[in-house]
Amino acid sequence: MSFLQSLKKTFVDDPKRRTKKIYYWCFHVLGMYFSFLYLPYYYLYVRRLQRIGKDGRVGMMQVASLIVRGCNLRCEYCTTFSPSRKGVFPADDLIASYREWRKKLKPQFFFLSGGEPFLHPELERLVRESAKIWNESKLRLITNGLLLDRAKPELLRALRETAFELLVTEHTFEPKHRKKLDAGYARLKQEGIPFVVVPSRLTWAARYQYDNEKKGMEGQDENPVPYNSDPRMAWNHCKVCDCTAINGDQLYKCVPLLSANLAVQEGILNADLWKAALTYSPPTLRSTPEEILELLRRQAMPECTVCPGKTAIVPARQLPSNKERMN
Ligand code: SF4
Ligand code: SF4
Repeated sequence: MSFLQSLKKTFVDDPKRRTKKIYYWCFHVLGMYFSFLYLPYYYLYVRRLQRIGKDGRVGMMQVASLIVRGCNLRCEYCTTFSPSRKGVFPADDLIASYREWRKKLKPQFFFLSGGEPFLHPELERLVRESAKIWNESKLRLITNGLLLDRAKPELLRALRETAFELLVTEHTFEPKHRKKLDAGYARLKQEGIPFVVVPSRLTWAARYQYDNEKKGMEGQDENPVPYNSDPRMAWNHCKVCDCTAINGDQLYKCVPLLSANLAVQEGILNADLWKAALTYSPPTLRSTPEEILELLRRQAMPECTVCPGKTAIVPARQLPSNKERMN
């Protein structure tokens, strides 16, 4: 399907939820090139939510939980380094952390994310438990959509009954993927599960670089290295100013920083190269609401140096698979 056909399909053929789709396109496509467009959104909407409520919980725009480390795609510049990572986070640990953080946080949105969340063998349970625990938040699940066509009926029922909305980040133009996505969307429509396609097939905003001259980890073909930017410049071009993420008893300012820390712990990233990201000290469940609020409002942290100092647009591409490399 050509780009123009894809645009027509998104905005013309399916008029349902058109406003939301336009919003996502503007947010992701225009925002990628013109990051200043985020400023009104940040100051008029996000910052106003960040306050301590009467119940002592900290209001915020959103909180994410990364439930799967790996992915079934290999996107170059993946923010969570998922092409090189494997495994999932145990459902019991995730649910226990949600229960505790729910006593401290009041997010407008709660996200299940990954890697690819549909690779989690207990996704249905996580969906139902998240809905019970984050019952004042709108629920979202971010997926690349390639496993929707074979998702178990019980899982789709759970998504519908809990009113989760799916954000499908289509990442490739491959015909075999198109077939799977269309089959998946047909199932979602049949089940009455709301979903929005987030455009992500032409270009991405990179958060790190590849430099295979520098020593990476043994056994890794790609060697992601951080930038060394002025933190303020990096913050000014940061489009994830509100993507707080829970990690056990820790609360990370953003998914890129959490992912870099996890990837170093898992031996995927070189700790020496990424040491600037490792200095980050997240608030924990023992932190006061004031300390959590301070984290949310913090701008241009020293750790932001790992991000690009200006928008780094790269073509959306898949890394070669192990099989392709050997041929
Ligand atoms: S689909 Fe998402 S998580 Fe998977 S490799 Fe691509 S960007 Fe990373
Ligand atoms: S480290 Fe700083 S600049 Fe980079 S994504 Fe996180 S908040 Fe944004």
